Amino acid sequence: NLSERLQAAFKRLRGKGKVTEEDVSEVMREIRVALLEADVSYKVVKDFIKKVKERAVGQEVLASLTPAQQVIKIVHEELIELLGGIQSRLTTAPKPPTVIMLVGLQGAGKTTSAGKLANLLRKQGKKPLLVAADIYRPAAVKQLQVLGEQLQIPVFAMGTSVSAVNIAKGALEYAASHGRDMVIIDTAGRLHINEELMQELQDIKAAIKPHEILLVVDAMTGQTAVEVAETFNAQLGIDGVIMTKLDGDAKGGAALSVRAVTGKPIKFAGMGEKLDALEPFYPDRLASRILGMGDVLSLIEKAQAAFDQAEAEKLQEKMRKAEFTLEDFLNQMQQMKKLGPLENILSMLPGIGGKELKELQKQINPKEMARVEAIILSMTPQERAKPEIIDSSRKKRIARGSGTRVQDVNKLLEQFKQAKAMMKQFAQLEKKMKKKGGIKL
Ligand code: GDP
Ligand code: MG
Repeated sequence: NLSERLQAAFKRLRGKGKVTEEDVSEVMREIRVALLEADVSYKVVKDFIKKVKERAVGQEVLASLTPAQQVIKIVHEELIELLGGIQSRLTTAPKPPTVIMLVGLQGAGKTTSAGKLANLLRKQGKKPLLVAADIYRPAAVKQLQVLGEQLQIPVFAMGTSVSAVNIAKGALEYAASHGRDMVIIDTAGRLHINEELMQELQDIKAAIKPHEILLVVDAMTGQTAVEVAETFNAQLGIDGVIMTKLDGDAKGGAALSVRAVTGKPIKFAGMGEKLDALEPFYPDRLASRILGMGDVLSLIEKAQAAFDQAEAEKLQEKMRKAEFTLEDFLNQMQQMKKLGPLENILSMLPGIGGKELKELQKQINPKEMARVEAIILSMTPQERAKPEIIDSSRKKRIARGSGTRVQDVNKLLEQFKQAKAMMKQFAQLEKKMKKKGGIKL
């Protein structure tokens, strides 16, 4: 078991005052074996170990962390990085419908995932259409229709005598004329990759140019999942992965390798057979799972807290000097998300109540925060550092990239300006207070 092995490896690091280069090497040897046992491919493991070593050895020990905590933190961070860093979203078409094509081997979970995805998207206010393009087994069409009935989501089907390409084309027309804004195409799979399968998928791709080709892979199949991903990506080109059956005792290793080998993000995780068991894929969660819960995780959290503290102090200093950028704003927002429901935190703050609290809550509701985050993520580093260079053509690009409107970008920039001005005032106020020997803000 990977978690156990890693925990054992970490135990060696604990209880020591200092970590020598040999210590790190030895632990890394253990981690290497552990990852290999979890089906992470050899090359991926090799690169991973190298990266962690490079970062760990000879690094200045942070005052707030023990050397052991620091190595753990690096392993955790690099695992997250290997899994793609931040959570990756679906691309949406500038002009609906957005067309999503699910591909993969038989039994991977395509049909089930199609239903789950439609369900998830509908919860987000979309109008999905399911498309039955697996024409080789009548049962496959039926399976999707049953799912559609359960979910009360329309299913486009033309039986099994029309080609998959024509079904896909027909579905697009249907979606356009019936106001469906998300088209999810369930395609046929085979037990093994073969030319016929690839040819059909390539034909569908060429005919309808989907916005997202999502490869569905079964996490339980380990190394095979990695080979499948490599082949589909090379021959068809994929935009992302849905990793299914992560609810079982699948080794997280497949997810690690699939991402590393294809460079394509895992966008969703299948967590069960039920139709609500599909989640956006969070790299940090799987990294924590791979590292094991309990002991190790709480150590990481402690390390993280200490680290965040240092970051927070840096940030305060920046605010004081009014050097605060949109990049900092983004970081701060991401930190805030970790704290849990904002209402609770806000209501604990002194001096905020009634009308102000309501107003603040409105501004920082999760949806609004997600929008702001998307906008900032669509900016270049230069734009984040110097928002004043954002002219109207940049605004348009940012709006397009983040799926928002130019007004939203304008609103964010205006709010940021105000926040910055407010910080300046706070900083001055704080200075005055200090002089009087009064309260520290
Ligand atoms: P397809 O051949 O790729 O269309 O695969 P199906 O969608 O028919 O799924 C094959 C089997 O895997 C079915 O029994 C599903 O219920 C099951 N399955 C799919 N996704 C998951 C998942 O995330 N977790 C679990 N436990 N089972 C799943
Ligand atoms: Mg199927």
